[in-house]
Amino acid sequence: MVTILIKEFTTWISVRIFEGGEFPRVRSASSLSHFRTIMSEELAHFGKGNVRIEREESGRFGSLRWCDIAPLVEHCDECNTTENVSTVQLGEFGHESLCEDCREDLLEKV
Ligand SMILES: [Zn+2]
Repeated sequence: MVTILIKEFTTWISVRIFEGGEFPRVRSASSLSHFRTIMSEELAHFGKGNVRIEREESGRFGSLRWCDIAPLVEHCDECNTTENVSTVQLGEFGHESLCEDCREDLLEKV
């Protein structure tokens, strides 16, 4: 499992890629479009099911929202699949990602 740590600063976003070595590989973006390019490249490289996303300083880079990241990386919180997953924003920074099957199971329980 590769961990990608997205750390926001006010004018740029740092993307740290932990591939298992001692130090992460670090890339940085000063725009949302460059950030999306970096994420697409890394996710295409590793496969999105193998990447775990962590965030630090969420909200510092004003225009970055979880909904910008989620479509790139979403996998189901319950079963970890990447098929048919949709993400719901909960409050300002929280989110919930569930695949169709788990969402149905959850709805049946309610
Ligand atoms: Zn699921």
